[in-house]
Amino acid sequence: MPELPEVETVVRTLEYQLGNVGIASCEVLYPNIIDNVEVNSFCELLKNERFTSYSRRGKYLIFTLDTKVLVCHLRMEGKFYVEKDLTLVDKHTHVIFTLDDGRYLLYHDVRKFGRMYLYDKNEPLTCLSKLGLEPWDSKLNVEYLRSKAKDMPIKQFLLDQSIIAGIGNIYANEICFALNVLPMCSVSSFTNEMFEQVIVHTRRILENAIASGGTTIRSYTSSLGVDGRFQLSLMVHGRDKEECKICHEKIVKIQLKGRGTYYCPRCQK
Ligand SMILES: [Zn+2]
Repeated sequence: MPELPEVETVVRTLEYQLGNVGIASCEVLYPNIIDNVEVNSFCELLKNERFTSYSRRGKYLIFTLDTKVLVCHLRMEGKFYVEKDLTLVDKHTHVIFTLDDGRYLLYHDVRKFGRMYLYDKNEPLTCLSKLGLEPWDSKLNVEYLRSKAKDMPIKQFLLDQSIIAGIGNIYANEICFALNVLPMCSVSSFTNEMFEQVIVHTRRILENAIASGGTTIRSYTSSLGVDGRFQLSLMVHGRDKEECKICHEKIVKIQLKGRGTYYCPRCQK
């Protein structure tokens, strides 16, 4: 599943590839992808709109158009492709944007869990309303994290999009390793110093992952011809039975709240 660094990479790549192109027309092949408006009006409203800026909030992509804002969540396997023709269109293609320069922006999604939302520019983006702080928000500090901390595993705390937005399974595993704490360790026992370390390592790991173009693993490739390289820097995620890069102990994999959870039993306490 694409997490903050992968979504950021997709946003930057689309901005580079599409610039201020216009949408000539739009076709939706799987209506459930469109969440908050009728499919017919979605297509009608997007016609002749031009992309003006590209951004991200948590794991959501935000495309600002002339008078509309298109928000998209890729969920498990959503991918965008920019193509010169329609040869790549198959049963997994759910939205086709015909661009006014003759190219196409295709939305593929094997699992069909991705969602798109369309708003007027002056409307609140309600699909984002429950999101917590961005990792680099100046309001993200020890007091904020302490106010959100309950008796819950640190990994679950990191995955909670209403606390810090954008962290998913890969980076939650990596942040726990950087903190030297077991993923199931409760945040209710965290000292101020440990919360400070949560902020420091979250920012550092996500920044490094963005600089590497994100992580490309079996369950997610970013499309658009861009492969991330952060998988080479992973310390625990996806490395069960391999040696810890620090202490050479074997990395352990367990299920925690239904998610594959990796840790080093010697480095993490
Ligand atoms: Zn270790």
